[in-house]
Amino acid sequence: MRFLMVGAGLSGAVIGREFAEQGHEITVVDSRDHIGGNCHTERDADTGVMVHVYGPHIFHTDDEEVWSYVNRYANFLPYKNRVKTTSQGQVYSLPVNLHTINQFFGKTMRPDEARVFITEEQADTSITDPQSFEEQAMRFVGRDLYEAFFKGYTIKQWGCHPSELPASILKRLPVRFNYDDNYFFHRFQGMPENGYTDMIAGILDHSGITVKLNTTFDRSMGDVFDHVFYSGPLDGYFDYELGRLGYRTLDFERFTYDGDYQGCAVMNYGEEEVPYTRITEHKHFAPWETHEGSVCYREFSRAAGPDDIPYYPIRQVKEKALLGEYVALAEKTQNVTFVGRLGTYRYLDMDVTIREALDTARTFLDEITAEREFKPFYVAPM
Ligand code: FAD
Ligand code: UDP
Repeated sequence: MRFLMVGAGLSGAVIGREFAEQGHEITVVDSRDHIGGNCHTERDADTGVMVHVYGPHIFHTDDEEVWSYVNRYANFLPYKNRVKTTSQGQVYSLPVNLHTINQFFGKTMRPDEARVFITEEQADTSITDPQSFEEQAMRFVGRDLYEAFFKGYTIKQWGCHPSELPASILKRLPVRFNYDDNYFFHRFQGMPENGYTDMIAGILDHSGITVKLNTTFDRSMGDVFDHVFYSGPLDGYFDYELGRLGYRTLDFERFTYDGDYQGCAVMNYGEEEVPYTRITEHKHFAPWETHEGSVCYREFSRAAGPDDIPYYPIRQVKEKALLGEYVALAEKTQNVTFVGRLGTYRYLDMDVTIREALDTARTFLDEITAEREFKPFYVAPM
């Protein structure tokens, strides 16, 4: 059969590869001039630094199959994400851990003492079932840490007050009563030695796959294929006929530095007065390499306009209602499956994207082998 993948990011590459290995003919189109989607990495010509072009990407997962899948296409080197944050004139360690707590309150507490201190003297225990981001923060770390590390950053990142955001956004971050400063708690973590684009090129490197760059999908393209897997924006597929799903976009202000600019890969800025959310210094993502020069990004977040790259789906009440309407349209669309971060309007980490892509391709192959109808929309939890 002949399949069209719209998007040469992880979703399109992984699904395309699964089909190609079963003897199907795959065309992958992408409107950009490179493969890799938002995971795209490229070496800066002047410094030789591997730059994460659309923002910092760290691979982390508990999914053994996904971990062995990515290791088939790239040599992963150990990398632990250790994020720092600047607030109130000091540099602290994230996620909030015993070092952060002791430094912030000027104490030398042991784990049990810190737990009692935060729970009994800081946390607002009158909040029993936190609904908003703010309530979640007040309940688990209390006002002082919330205001230093989360409130300003979140207002900048999401463009609204944390009381208007769901608690689930903060639940992504742990609070630790030990000195573990690993940002993620997944079993497998690492960085592909030659970058993500090289890894995705390996996934796409199959005689059954043809990649066409600088090629924007229009619906008539689908006519000559048996099925389309679409990883572009869900509302874009329907020419935004019901309105636009809200996104945050990012502006990266790139600058170079002769030497080591900040001594770590990611430095967050917790205060609202600092206009950017964080600075990324790309060479620290590859600690096994040595570079004299350095490439950094100052990262600013704002509401996405029609011509901006959509980065973070907003998924508030208004967007969820509109999403429901687009999902209804998608379910009625024959021979198209909406996949990935933009196609299902969700924040998806790379490992989850790969897991869903593998599952989608396998389910599809099972259904066509059994001559059953494939349910075309990958059901996205609202
Ligand atoms: P994308 O990578 O967005 O690929 C979609 C592709 O479709 C794009 O190349 C686009 O050009 C193309 N396209 C869209 N519309 C059309 C069209 N009409 N015609 C042709 N082509 C089209 N995940 C992690 O695991 N760890 C991290 O540290 C991490 N950091 C992140 C940081 C940021 C700032 C962001 C935004 C995301 C981060 N992610 C991270 C998530 C990661 O980027 C996604 O999991 C991954 O990019 C999803 O792949 P995808 O193929 O679904 O989408
Ligand atoms: N956050 C914050 N301060 C920080 C880091 C994160 O307030 O220094 C908040 C912010 O609202 C962010 C959320 O916690 O969206 C989740 O953090 P994560 O690092 O997972 O952000 P993402 O990967 O979505 O950028």
